[in-house]
Parts: sequence; structure tokens; C-alpha cells
Amino acid sequence: MALPEAFMQDLKSRSDIVDIISSYVNLKRRGKNMVGLCPFHNEKSPSFNVYTENGSFYCFGCGAGGDVITFIRKIENLDYIEAVKLLAQRAGLQVPEQGVDDSMSRLRQRVLEINRESARFFHASLLKPEGKPGLDYFARRRLPMQMIRHFGLGWAPESRFALVNHLRAKGYAESELIQANVAVQTRSGRAMDRFHSRVMFPIIDLRGNVVAFGGRILTDEKPKYINTSDTPVYHKSSGLFAMNFAKNALDNGRLILAEGYMDVISLHKAGFENAIASLGTSLTAEQARVMARYAKEVIICYDSDEAGQKAAQRAIPILRGAGLLVRVMAVPGNKDPDEFINSYGEEGAARFRKLIEDCGSDVEYRLDRLKSGFDLESGDGKVQYLMEAVNVLARLDNAIERDVYVGRLSEELGVDKNAILTQMKRSMRQESRAAQKRQLRETTEALSARRDEINPEKRRHVRVANAEERLIACLFAHNELAASLREKLPPEKFVTGFNRRLYQSLLGKIINGETANAPGISDFSAECTPDEMGRVAAILRESSGTTAEDAERFVQIILSEGGLSDAEAIRASDPAQLQAQFEALRRQKK
Ligand code: ZN
Repeated sequence: MALPEAFMQDLKSRSDIVDIISSYVNLKRRGKNMVGLCPFHNEKSPSFNVYTENGSFYCFGCGAGGDVITFIRKIENLDYIEAVKLLAQRAGLQVPEQGVDDSMSRLRQRVLEINRESARFFHASLLKPEGKPGLDYFARRRLPMQMIRHFGLGWAPESRFALVNHLRAKGYAESELIQANVAVQTRSGRAMDRFHSRVMFPIIDLRGNVVAFGGRILTDEKPKYINTSDTPVYHKSSGLFAMNFAKNALDNGRLILAEGYMDVISLHKAGFENAIASLGTSLTAEQARVMARYAKEVIICYDSDEAGQKAAQRAIPILRGAGLLVRVMAVPGNKDPDEFINSYGEEGAARFRKLIEDCGSDVEYRLDRLKSGFDLESGDGKVQYLMEAVNVLARLDNAIERDVYVGRLSEELGVDKNAILTQMKRSMRQESRAAQKRQLRETTEALSARRDEINPEKRRHVRVANAEERLIACLFAHNELAASLREKLPPEKFVTGFNRRLYQSLLGKIINGETANAPGISDFSAECTPDEMGRVAAILRESSGTTAEDAERFVQIILSEGGLSDAEAIRASDPAQLQAQFEALRRQKK
């Protein structure tokens, strides 16, 4: 059962798509529409469009699309009813109880409650006699009680059933504990604590919910850290530790990206509340995009050992890809930030601030790293360094940035600037060819993968599936065709499943008058997944300018070729038409 139509109308009229998307994406006007950098994939030139006319968005780069509810679902990682609730709250509306299928929403609510209760339990355990090893550890790291409370740090007791028993007594089922990943299932089928004998770091999302935990063991046992796996409320590829605090403490639009929980906590203690860490995994593009929603610049502050430096090198292109400025800090003397700050006592924070101000850009960092591998005293070494350095610079998008560094290289090595520029142009041509190939491959892969997911039959029936999609687009624009289309081409004649479902649903909405106005994209967001909504948005884009004659033509294609694969359809047609069909196919595939 759906939410009442009147409520949905009210919600839609109060949830302006441009207003809402603007709070996540920087949109600029282009003609009738608004464009911006897509928040769902990394890109440098905007292919993310918002169509005010029909309340939809569509990204040409990754195929994400839909209505305002789909947008909120995707960006906030919510299910349908949760997204409706969030929008309703924003619009000052009460969601009617009637018609809400919220089983998923209830599960998520339970998992959040379990997490909160677990965090309380771990924190209380830390302050009991059994928590002494944990408290001692924090004392060794010079954490005052106030920081322990601020971060809600805790201790997972040694017993393998302490938390499970505690939560069961509070009325939570073992199956819920397993879904929250605070417990795991033993071979006998019982639930057993996931974390034991570990200091516990709760991970809090941007809305203040405890969504996951990291646990560090204090002995030499492996693994040193374990973290919550993906759950209904947590995706580790987008989680960031302490982002809930850091987003409100940006220092000139800057975040400090540290390596571990303790680094972050020490930095916060020293007054750098813009410090965050990625969680247990290497940095992902999703995490970088979350940072880019709040910050302009990220200072990478990883360990100075080889592993830390490798991780920094990997992080640079990911952060740049999300449009962030990047600088890389080297903490002197092989220290981690905590050791560095502590070693200067009172002055520690000021010294660290100076490191932030002085640290170089990611380009300087990469050039320094390169340089250390060559002997610049020898002519050979100089040339090799120069060639490698030019390759680094050729990959920069910004011409001014390139020019600055070419100037520096020329001075540093005593080589003519023009000679370096010539070499760089050559390298840039190579790089641009390689980048084009890469992009083409990525786009094709992304497109074919998506095609499989949403409408798997389309692969074998490209021509018919395209006709189906165009016909649906016509129907969106010409509702008056619905009755006659249902006669001529009942939904069961459709060849591909997704299009059949969409066609049937659209016909139903028009003929039964389910919606007050002509059906639009938002009438599908309750029945389609966010990925499917991308396809609906793509189809809807084709609807303007279509005519009733177009519809007739598409009906004919579907009726005459329905059931045949592309290859069979081509074999069945006469030779004169063959060439034309090849041409049409080639155009469609472009
Ligand atoms: Zn995109």
C-alpha cells in the first residue's frame, strides 16, 4: 500500500529539487537546466543535470538519475520511506502512518538502537575493574577522561557473551545482534560477541548515530584492529572516523586525514578537531566524495614509514579526483602526530600548526619523493629525474600549476624552461591518449554492467528494447494515447522485463487516474530502486518533442520483431533493409 496521494503531492510541492540538491552539489544554470559535478562518481567536468521542468536529475557520466526522493536515497544511503521522512521533516510535514511499509526502516532503527546500547555498554565496562587494561592503555596515550567521554571510548570485556547477554536482557533478538554485526554466529548457531578484550572506538555518522565500531587488541594477537562489516546502517567504504565532529570544525575549509583512531583523537585533544581517518581500509573514492561535500582541502598526515608513505601516494589521486586540493605533511623524526605534539609539551600544538602551514602541495610531495631516488649530482640522474618529474606534471589539469612547477624545475636543475616545456607537451599528448582510452573503457564497462542489472534482456534485444523505451517516453508526453496503446500493444507484448513493468505501471497510472496530474518521474520512486530510477530518468529525457506518429512507429517495431533477438531480426529482414538496420544499430550503440 502506498502513502496517500494528497500527502505525496504536498511533499513534492514543498521539496524543490534544485533547493535540495543544491545543499549537496554546487549547481550552475545552463539554459533551462542546472548542472554540477556528479556526487555519485568522480568527474572533472559537470555531467550531472537537474531538470526543473519535470523534477528529475540525470548524470550522463554514470547513469544515476531519478526524482528528489531517489537523490536523497542515494546520497544519504536511505530506503524509500526514510527518504520520504527526511524530506517531510525538512518541509515541516508529518508522514501519515497509513500505508507505510517500513520493515527495512524498523530493522535499521533496531540496529541503531543496538549500536547505541552497545556503545553505552562498552563505555561502562571501561570504567569497571574489568576495563582496567583499556583505561591503562588510554592513560599511556595520555588521554584525559574528558576525551574518553567525548569520543565515547570503551572496553569489550574478555567474556565471549558479555554483550550478547546484556542486549538479550534488553529485549533484542540474537538475529538482530548478528545483523548489527556486534555478534557473530557460532557453529552451534548461538550468537557470540564480535569484540572481546579490545578497546573500542565507536564510529558515529553525520547525523550523530553510532553506526559501527573499531576494536583494537592490546596484545600481539592478530588482527590488531577489527571493524564492523557492512550492516543495514553502515557501509565501510563511505565511513569516516570523527567526521561528525570535523565537519563542524573545518579550519579554512581544511580536513586533516590521519591514519588511525588514536592519531585522530590525539589531534582533537591538541585542538585540531578537523582531523579524521578512513576506517581500516585504504581510502575509497566514496570517502573522498564525502570529504569534498564539506571541505576544499585535505592535508594527508600519515605515518612516515614506508607503508604510510605508500598509502599517501595512493590517496593523492583519489582525493584530487573528488575535486579536493591536497597537501601532504611529513611529521619530522619518524614520529606520529601524537608523539610529535607530546614531545614539545606546551608548545606542541603550535609546532604542529606550523607544520600544517608549511607543508607542501601533493605535487611538491611527489616531486620530492621522486628526487630522493636519483643522484642529481650526475648528469644521468638529473635527466632521469627530469623525465619522471615531467610525467608527473603532465598529468595535472591546471595549466598555471604546471607552469609554476616547470619554472621551479628549470631553476633547480639549471635546465632551459622551454626544453622542459617541449618534453612536457610530448608527455601530455601521450597521457591524453591514454586517458581517453581509459575513459572509453570505463564508460563501456559501466554501461554494460548497468544494462545487465536493470534490464538484463536488453543486451540481446537492443533494437526492440530501445523502441520500448522510446514508446514509454512518448506515453509520458502523450497520456491521451494510453487507451489505444493498451489495445494495440498490451504490456505482455513487451520483450524486456523492466520496460514491460514500467509500461504497465505507467498505463495503469494514466488509465486509472491514480495520480492527480499527468504521471511524472516521482510517481515511480516508490516502486523502483534508485538504480532503476536512473533508467526512468534517462527514458523521460527522450520524451520532449515526441509525437503520436513516433509512438505508432515504435509499436510496429515491437510487434514485428518482438521475441526475436537482434541477430534473428536482422536475418529475417530483406537484404535491402539489412544495411539500414546495421546503421541504426551502430547509431544506437554510440
Ligand atoms: Zn554521475
